[in-house]
Amino acid sequence: MYDIAIVGSGPAGVSAAITGKVRNKDILLLGDRSVSKKMRKAEKVLNYPGFPEISGAELADRFSDHLASLDIDITEDSITQIYDMGKYFALQGKSGSTYEARTVILAMGVVAAKAIEGEEENLGMGVSYCATCDAPLYRGKTAAVIAYSAKEEKEAEFLAELAEKVIYIPVYKGCSGFERENITVINEKVVSIGAKGKTVITENSEISTDGVFVLRDSVAPKNLIYGLEMDGAHIKTDRQCRTSVKGVFACGDVTGKPYQFAKAVGEGNTAVLSAVDYLDDKAVQ
Ligand SMILES: Cc1cc2nc3c(=O)[nH]c(=O)nc-3n(C[C@H](O)[C@H](O)[C@H](O)COP(=O)(O)OP(=O)(O)OC[C@H]3O[C@@H](n4cnc5c(N)ncnc54)[C@H](O)[C@@H]3O)c2cc1C
Repeated sequence: MYDIAIVGSGPAGVSAAITGKVRNKDILLLGDRSVSKKMRKAEKVLNYPGFPEISGAELADRFSDHLASLDIDITEDSITQIYDMGKYFALQGKSGSTYEARTVILAMGVVAAKAIEGEEENLGMGVSYCATCDAPLYRGKTAAVIAYSAKEEKEAEFLAELAEKVIYIPVYKGCSGFERENITVINEKVVSIGAKGKTVITENSEISTDGVFVLRDSVAPKNLIYGLEMDGAHIKTDRQCRTSVKGVFACGDVTGKPYQFAKAVGEGNTAVLSAVDYLDDKAVQ
């Protein structure tokens, strides 16, 4: 049981992790070992104090070194669902692992992909974000996989070990197919997902299935945890980075513009200090 689980290892999550560790809390930092792929794309950063001309990749390396100096590891996993268990939160990872923490900080950056029509309505009722977690439900059945990157091919192969048939619909270019005979690749644009995930409607056909896996790098925040209030595409927070769910805080691009390193780092600091206050208040209750 961790004190604080931080979902996202970009500048906001790293900042939260550093201060959380300095404040002696037991923290779990979840995300991408690279720190943030988005951050690494910045060719030249001109507005980060103390580093007048640094690339995003160099700044990310500095962040990694800082984490290492405090013995903070990044646990490489993508969180697909968070359950409020009352006294703690259970976080389900794409890897199949479940983590437990008394508080959660959401620092996932902005989610680019728009939900598919029918995806959110049927989530948990025929639509899943995690092949490792839900594959056993499709033993001997048909499962459709709508995949947003080539790394999901491994997930489809795992699913095909249990399912009788896997229909793989890549949303990316360059899928060269599978050796397993029970995986069929359909290169068609997805239009919507039918009730209870029983169909996938593409521009040319209606595909029958027993369920649908939508596999992308990140999950829209409102689908991650029940009761999370949004402000458009962003998580609604107050100035202490508290969300509408008690014990859950948010920071960085996920809370809205400006999308900037300094803002993400500042909010990471605020969010973790609010989490520390929350834990301390609970301890005296
Ligand atoms: C090309 C480019 C240039 C830029 N240049 C500048 C600049 O010069 N100055 C500036 O201030 N800003 C710049 N930015 C903006 C800056 O990169 C962002 O504001 C900053 O990275 C936001 O940090 P963040 O931690 O909120 O999110 P991100 O950096 O997006 O990090 C989010 C992290 O969360 C992880 N994650 C997402 N979902 C999950 C999940 N479900 N479970 C676990 N982990 C998850 C991701 O893998 C990622 O590691 C630039 C952005 C781009 C794209």
